[in-house]
Amino acid sequence: MRPMEAGRLHVIAGPMFAGKTEELLRRVHRARLAGLRVEVVGHRLDERGGADQLSSHAGRSLPARMLEHAEELLELIGEGRPHTIAIDEAQFFGPPLVPVIHRLLDAGIQVEAAGLCITYDGEPFAPLPALMALAEEVVKLTAVCTVCGTEAAFHIRLVDDGATALQPTAAQVGDAESYQARCRSHRRDAAPRGPG
Ligand code: ADP
Ligand code: MG
Repeated sequence: MRPMEAGRLHVIAGPMFAGKTEELLRRVHRARLAGLRVEVVGHRLDERGGADQLSSHAGRSLPARMLEHAEELLELIGEGRPHTIAIDEAQFFGPPLVPVIHRLLDAGIQVEAAGLCITYDGEPFAPLPALMALAEEVVKLTAVCTVCGTEAAFHIRLVDDGATALQPTAAQVGDAESYQARCRSHRRDAAPRGPG
């Protein structure tokens, strides 16, 4: 007897506004058209779509289970074992998501994971870099720079404090008005790189 085939890991990464959620929803839609059972999972920290749904910045939405801890995903294996588990905002689950995804893949489940691979201050955002390294497929998307219209691999966080307006803050959760997509040249706080 052939051993059970492991699932494949597909990662959709990029900054905010890159179309990660739209791409995830597109894939979910296609899989369901093909008659496959897909579980759609978001993180409780992402409340933009309301209680139990994912929503994109363009206004598309889909019912989803909003979980808090990566380990909760393992319960889905027992529940009739879906063909695919689609996870949005994967970065909110943190590093524990990596071993959990390994277990889902070993159980023969395909995993589509979308999330931020970059923080607002331009650092790699765990666990996306690890997931990108371990994936069968990686789609790296860019947004449109709000200053110059070129491709934006970064986003910045804005806080309206009046005259000086745009200050970075510590949080990573917020509404769309709090963030802007930016190209490399128009990232604020980009430290000038000295020699060496
Ligand atoms: P992500 O999940 O990567 O944050 P979404 O899939 O939620 O992105 O939203 C992508 C949509 O956001 C685009 O199709 C577009 O309608 C809208 N959008 C708003 N601002 C921008 C921007 N600066 N660059 C690209 N898309 C933007
Ligand atoms: Mg999104």
